[in-house]
Amino acid sequence: MPPACYTSRVGEKKQPSFFFFFFVHNHARVYVRRCPKGEQIPTPFRMVLISIPAQQRERPLDSHRLGSLRSLKVRQYAPRRAECVTSREHRRVSTLFQPSSCLTNFVAGKDSTAAFYGLHRQEVLLRPQYSRLKIGKIQGEKPRFKVPELGAISKVPYAEATWLSEGFKSPYYTKNHRQFHKAVRTFFEEVVKPEAIQCEDNGKRISQEVVDKICAMEILAMRMGPGKHLLGRKLMGGIVKPEEFDYFHEASYIINTEMSRFGTRGFADGFLNGGVIALPPVLKYASKELYEKVVPEVLSGKKYIALAITEAFAGSDVSGLQTTAVRDGDCWIVNGTKKWITNGTFSDYFTVGCKTDAGLTVLLVPRCQGVETKAIKTAYSSTAGTAYVTFDNVRVPVGNTLGKVNKGLSVILSNFNHERWAIICMATGAQRLIVEECMKWASQRMVFGKPLSSQAVIRSRLAQMISRAEASQNWLELITYQMNKMTLAEVSDKLAGQIALCKQFITKCGRETAEDATQVFGGRALTASGMGKAIENYHRTCGYDSILGGTEDIMRDLGVRQAMKKMPKDARL
Ligand SMILES: Cc1cc2nc3c(=O)[nH]c(=O)nc-3n(C[C@H](O)[C@H](O)[C@H](O)COP(=O)(O)OP(=O)(O)OC[C@H]3O[C@@H](n4cnc5c(N)ncnc54)[C@H](O)[C@@H]3O)c2cc1C
Repeated sequence: MPPACYTSRVGEKKQPSFFFFFFVHNHARVYVRRCPKGEQIPTPFRMVLISIPAQQRERPLDSHRLGSLRSLKVRQYAPRRAECVTSREHRRVSTLFQPSSCLTNFVAGKDSTAAFYGLHRQEVLLRPQYSRLKIGKIQGEKPRFKVPELGAISKVPYAEATWLSEGFKSPYYTKNHRQFHKAVRTFFEEVVKPEAIQCEDNGKRISQEVVDKICAMEILAMRMGPGKHLLGRKLMGGIVKPEEFDYFHEASYIINTEMSRFGTRGFADGFLNGGVIALPPVLKYASKELYEKVVPEVLSGKKYIALAITEAFAGSDVSGLQTTAVRDGDCWIVNGTKKWITNGTFSDYFTVGCKTDAGLTVLLVPRCQGVETKAIKTAYSSTAGTAYVTFDNVRVPVGNTLGKVNKGLSVILSNFNHERWAIICMATGAQRLIVEECMKWASQRMVFGKPLSSQAVIRSRLAQMISRAEASQNWLELITYQMNKMTLAEVSDKLAGQIALCKQFITKCGRETAEDATQVFGGRALTASGMGKAIENYHRTCGYDSILGGTEDIMRDLGVRQAMKKMPKDARL
């Protein structure tokens, strides 16, 4: 089949002063041709070019003016400056161009594929709004660059975990894990990724439509880990039986790793991470009646839940919580505040750590009179729904107590291992994405007439990034294997310290990788859209994993204290 071609036309229909074409050879090869009238077209090709009428040329464009300019017919481009804007959102995209520095001289009428990929990500060519640019096909040309199919495994070295790389073997993953992974990746790329990109940008919470699709696949239920809550559910359309579902299914690409490969860290938390940390205490400690009411509502995506432990007064020091719960007949009266509660802005339930007469008690507090939530602006997208929560004389039925009264600390601590392990999975997936982005960029970016990868210093940075990703992955897989083989009590006894040490190692690696990647991408790493957008997002947000679920210093301390507890008394040098 002949390859596809696209064209972008900039000009007024009746009397065009110029046309701007680009042809895309199977979504990959790009040509720009100048029309016979010979106007130069100094623009990046992805956007509609709006040129400015002579009487308006000297006035700078602002967002207000862009709105009115949208309706103008394009007659000529500004000789000094013009703006490049998206046609739909009509927001300012970039500073523009000057005729003297236009692209036309070196791309017009020529194969401009290299220039295109020097400026734009491949995904730009796939956006529906540009399908109108497709005008024909170039006969006899073969595609040079391939657009990956949905669910495809990357062929870029080290972009994937070893077990997914061609020719490599793994002691951990079965055929079923591979089938499961393929189904999950395809689903995520098709259903979740477009939403992730949109929400990361506009800060809106995940849509109910996508939540319904996720829950139909039982993804939220699977994210709670293996257990009896899965029985009777059709997991991922039936690919894995509930009783065979293990932590490798969960780690190996149910959100934890797969989700973080979109480069949308805020959305990764907005993807109902609140539920992942808040529902387990309900699964484990709720009364039968409470379980039967709340669990189906949450796992079907009809209601949302958040974990509310941290306060302005106590974060790492959980025992210092100030929120109080005082008994009044059949109710607890809850008063206090909670800070940084993920998904809190839209949650219907809160799993709350409270101070009671002789210790801590965990309660399931429904959104009701006296509960207020306010968004907290953080460095990542508000799609995560991070909230400040106030409880003002909130009456909570005693039946909503999770675990024993005054023994809430153990309820809270027992939740941490799974949370920290999930963070490790996410952090590992995110690092892989950064390795892939850097490998691609180092190959395609030309500097001093050669690819960036020809510079030893860049290769050194890549080597360190790869080593960290590999080390992180291997440690994670070892821990996951142990989790599959141990009881929860054994996990608490033997793995809590190791999970903590692994978490701090991986999050520290992540921050070093963010620094390396920033140097590899240069200015693009500091630009929220375009080539370096994944690096920008990662550099801005990789610190989250080093704080959430326990800070790096606390993790180190915990890991070593756990090890010291097990030091044999008779060990001597
Ligand atoms: C975006 C975001 C989302 C979050 N989501 C949730 C959520 O959904 N639910 C929830 O309950 N919480 C949530 N948190 C809170 C998070 O878990 C805490 O921020 C974290 O536990 C650290 O607590 P802190 O910020 O109060 O730091 P602090 O405890 O005040 O610690 C500050 C610094 O002191 C160090 N430090 C503290 N104690 C010691 C010690 N004994 N020895 C050595 N160093 C020490 C820490 O390592 C840290 O570097 C969220 C936080 C953020 C930023």
